[in-house]
Amino acid sequence: MTHRVFNFSAGPAAMPEPVLQRAQSELLDYRGSGMSVMEMSHRGSHFMAIRDKAEADLRTLLAIPADYRVLFLQGGALAQNAAVPLNLLPVGGVADYVDTGHWAQKSIAEGRKYGEVNVAASSADANYTYVPPQSSWHRSPRASYVHVTTNETIGGVEYFAIPDTGDVPLVADASSHILSRPFDVARFGVIYAGAQKNVGPAGLTVVIVRDALTGRARRECPSVLDYAVQAKADSMFNTPPTFAIYLAGLTFEWLLAQGGLAAIERVNVAKAEALYAEIDRTGFYGNPVRKEDRSRVSVPFVLRDESLNDAFLDGAKKRGLTQLKGHRAVGGMRASIYNAMPRAGVDALVSWMRDFERTHG
Ligand code: PMP
Repeated sequence: MTHRVFNFSAGPAAMPEPVLQRAQSELLDYRGSGMSVMEMSHRGSHFMAIRDKAEADLRTLLAIPADYRVLFLQGGALAQNAAVPLNLLPVGGVADYVDTGHWAQKSIAEGRKYGEVNVAASSADANYTYVPPQSSWHRSPRASYVHVTTNETIGGVEYFAIPDTGDVPLVADASSHILSRPFDVARFGVIYAGAQKNVGPAGLTVVIVRDALTGRARRECPSVLDYAVQAKADSMFNTPPTFAIYLAGLTFEWLLAQGGLAAIERVNVAKAEALYAEIDRTGFYGNPVRKEDRSRVSVPFVLRDESLNDAFLDGAKKRGLTQLKGHRAVGGMRASIYNAMPRAGVDALVSWMRDFERTHG
């Protein structure tokens, strides 16, 4: 008997069960090809059709305008932290970054290797519990782009308003909330995301870049990270992560069948509300993030009495609620409730939190 848990991992994360079942049913013989998608040429007709359908469906989901390119790359979001300056920042140039916590700082540190970083705003003054309002930003007049981390996976802070940076391209690391809600792509110059949270398995990186921002890469930019090179080659300058693209494509189909991003957003809002309501109910649990900026998909919380952490996690595991331990940088708990986490999983967690409080509160 197959036994599936409610997996609250931040990533690699739970995937929709119908996607896994479909992949299983097609594993040995993909549509009469006599082979698995893993085993076929990335330039053959079967895989080309998979890739094209995945891109088309992603374009439909996010309503990606025609003047944007979709790239399916390797290297994760952290490779994009280098690719962004290598593609957009001229030698001797300046870029603005907004510091909202752990992942923003990773982007900032990488950006500093390639030029001057102006930290336009930071929420360090309140331990990264809010999104600095745009009115407080101090942007450089020379900046080539403005970088934001639109969902802080560890801190649990999410942008709900998209900043307006005028003619300066806005660049977003959207790794942990892409596809969790509609996104106005036209407001961004570049959106990038590691797939392993809300898109598919690890190994794939999605980059959505405005055409006009390709073709500016620095001489030393590795060709595999060069947006123009990869766009021209349909992301096949080198071998793409074929099986991950296939699974991402199945996930896009699943999302479309759910009614698209507006529909999944409604589910995500309801899930997040149920979980935060429990966290806030009595003070036994806590989440420090300003209410308006609380992430709908990355939900860190603490037990006020930390000595109960292990008992909480052990009991959760016995109920089939796994991967709830918080990131080592912050401790406590974290429930990642991406698209693939069903409402029933959140309800089971809330019910465990109540029972645990009743016996330990
Ligand atoms: N940015 C964010 C917001 C993340 O959550 C993560 C992964 N947890 C990363 C970047 C790093 O991504 P990758 O491991 O795909 O390079």
